[in-house]
Amino acid sequence: MSAPVAIVTGGSRGIGAAIAEKLATDGFDIAITYARNAEAARNIVSKIEAAGRKALAVQSDSGNVTDNAALVQKVVDKFGRLDALVCNAGAYPYGGPDTITTEDISRTLDLNMRGVMVESIHAARAMQSGGRIILIGSAFGERVPMPGISIYSATKAGLVGFAKGLSRDLGPKGITVNVVQPGPIDTELNPADGPAGDALRSVLAIPKYGEVADVADLVSFLASDRSSYITGAALSVDGGLTA
Ligand code: NDP
Repeated sequence: MSAPVAIVTGGSRGIGAAIAEKLATDGFDIAITYARNAEAARNIVSKIEAAGRKALAVQSDSGNVTDNAALVQKVVDKFGRLDALVCNAGAYPYGGPDTITTEDISRTLDLNMRGVMVESIHAARAMQSGGRIILIGSAFGERVPMPGISIYSATKAGLVGFAKGLSRDLGPKGITVNVVQPGPIDTELNPADGPAGDALRSVLAIPKYGEVADVADLVSFLASDRSSYITGAALSVDGGLTA
């Protein structure tokens, strides 16, 4: 039988790259998407292949509805099946009512919400029983401890509602849908030594940034057979930001 296949959007850097590498070691063949940085994507493909798994890098803008629809088809054409979708690509607009623009709002909704919805629906149609849809939300979807992130927080909170609803649609088919909500994780998007570092550490129960592996380990469990009775859930890996 062929190996299970996972898509990880935004899998070329940061949290998504760690998830892609972890799922490869779990035995999945992997398709990653990226937006601009083809070299970073090639690097992750090499690592997946070094782990003995097949890999595909697809330049696919998760904020573009045409790309969203084509992605699953490309992966099924290449690998012949789809078992897990990890919607990880996301934008982090920063700003309050005085600075945020309508374009910021539209771009964030397209990438963080509509793209996730369209990719998930196409994936659900391609999956068999045992399929896994995992959405990377944020602790800021549940608790907003500082100003400037209203649009981001709204989109991440919206993913929880979407996952709950889709879990009801797909439960009878044996497909689960869950949200993973990271707290501050040290990546290029949110470096531990960046300007927000101290403020974020001050609202954590464990006052330090998490590592990308902290998120990848939880996704690995959710993608496995062992998680088959977990669906419609929002699971935190946030150092206690929401405690
Ligand atoms: P990074 O900025 O480090 O990595 C982003 C990845 O997404 C890259 O692979 C990038 O590719 C890709 N990407 C960016 N835009 C698009 C797009 N339009 N379509 C497809 N791929 C895209 O982000 P993180 O790893 O930090 O974050 C990943 C997810 O985790 C996001 O959804 C974020 O909201 C969430 N999150 C992160 C937290 C953190 O503290 N880091 C905390 C909570 C949630 P390329 O290199 O080509 O641009």
